[in-house]
Amino acid sequence: MKYRKLGKTGIKVSEIGLGAEWLQGKTLDESKDIIDYCHKEGINFLDCWMSEPNVRTNIGISIKDTREDWIIQGHFGSTWQDEQYVRTREMDKVIPAFEDFMERLQLDYLDFGMIHFVDEIEDFEEIMNGEFIKYVRQQKENGVIKHIGLSTHSPTVALLATEVEDIELIMFSINPAFDMLASINNIEVYIEDDTYNDKELEGLAPERAELYQICKEKNIPLVVMKGYFGGRLLSAEDSPFGVALTPVHCIEYCLSRPAVASIMVGVKDVGEVEAAIAYESASLKEKDYASVLVNAPKNSYEGQCTYCGHCAPCTANIDIAKVNKFYDLAKHHDEVPESIRAHHNDLAYNASDCIACGSCEDRCPFHVGIVEIMEKAKKLFE
Ligand code: SF4
Ligand code: SF4
Repeated sequence: MKYRKLGKTGIKVSEIGLGAEWLQGKTLDESKDIIDYCHKEGINFLDCWMSEPNVRTNIGISIKDTREDWIIQGHFGSTWQDEQYVRTREMDKVIPAFEDFMERLQLDYLDFGMIHFVDEIEDFEEIMNGEFIKYVRQQKENGVIKHIGLSTHSPTVALLATEVEDIELIMFSINPAFDMLASINNIEVYIEDDTYNDKELEGLAPERAELYQICKEKNIPLVVMKGYFGGRLLSAEDSPFGVALTPVHCIEYCLSRPAVASIMVGVKDVGEVEAAIAYESASLKEKDYASVLVNAPKNSYEGQCTYCGHCAPCTANIDIAKVNKFYDLAKHHDEVPESIRAHHNDLAYNASDCIACGSCEDRCPFHVGIVEIMEKAKKLFE
C-alpha cells in the first residue's frame, strides 16, 4: 500500500481508504472481517458518515484494538431520526448525534471532524456564520477533533471551503463522469441519465479544474468519494460512457487528479476490498482507463489531456503528462502561481525543451495538441 500526505497536517494515509457506507446492514462479524482485512492490507484511512446506530457500534468494536493505526473521518450533521438518516444543521440534533458517534466508535479523539454534505452555497454560509461552525471549532479547541474537514459534491462549495483557513481537507465526489459536469447543487442531478445525454459535455468542467488547481496550490488535500459513481462506471449498461471501467481504472483516474490524496472505496465484502487493492500491484496496462474511455461510444474527452501518459516517451525526455498538468493548473490565472511555475521549471526537462517533433501526438488517444500546449506552457512559465 502506498501512502500520501494529507496537506499541511502531515498525516500520512493510505491512497486507498475505506468508505464504510456499505457496512450498514452487515453483522458485526461481517464488518469486522472487512475492517480486519483492510487493516492487514495497510489501509489506514476510514470514513464513517453514517448515523445508523448498529453500523457505528460494529465499526467501534472492529477498530477497538487497532484504533491508533487508523485515521478516521466522522461527520457533524449526520443524524438518526425516526429510524432514518437525516442531514441537519439543527444543533439539538447535531450535538447528540456527534456524541453518539464518538461513543459508539469508542473514540477518545477523532482525526477529522467533517462538516457533512454541504452542496448549497446558502447552506455553507449558514454553517460558517452560525452555531454549527462554533460547535465544530469548540470540539477542535477541546481536542475532541484534531482537524476540520468538509464533504461536498459541489465544486462551488468546495472552492468556498478552500478560503476557510481551518478547513484542512475536502471530501469531494470525483470520477470521469462527474468531472465533465459544471457545478450542480443537487446530487440527484448527477445520477440522472439525461444529465449525461447533453451533447455539449466534453472533458473536464472548468470549475472542477479550478478546484483541483486551487487545492494543489493551497496544499488542501482532496479525498475522493463516489470514485466508481456508485458502481455505475463498472457496468457498460449503466455507465454514461457506455463502456465498463474496472475498479483499478477508476482508482487510477481519481488518484491522478491534482491534489487528490486518497480515494475512499465503498465495499460490501472482502472481495471488493481485494478488487480495489489490486490497484497497488496493477500494471500500467491494467490502470489504463484512457484506452477504455477513448473508445467509449458515449461522451468524450477528445482534445482534453487526462494525464494518462500514453504519449511517452518524449524525444526530449519531457514528462508530457506532468507538464500538461501544470499547464492546466496555471492557465486560468492572470498571474501564474509561483508554486506551479517552480514545479514546472524544476522538472529535469520541461516545456522549453520541446523540439516540436510531434511524435507524441500520434500516440495520444485523445488527440491532444501537445506541441501547441508545449509552446503555450513555455510562454506561460518563462
Ligand atoms: S497528452 Fe494525451 S497521451 Fe499524453 S497524457 Fe495527455 S491525454 Fe494522455
Ligand atoms: S513534440 Fe515535444 S513533447 Fe512531443 S515528443 Fe516531441 S519533443 Fe516531446
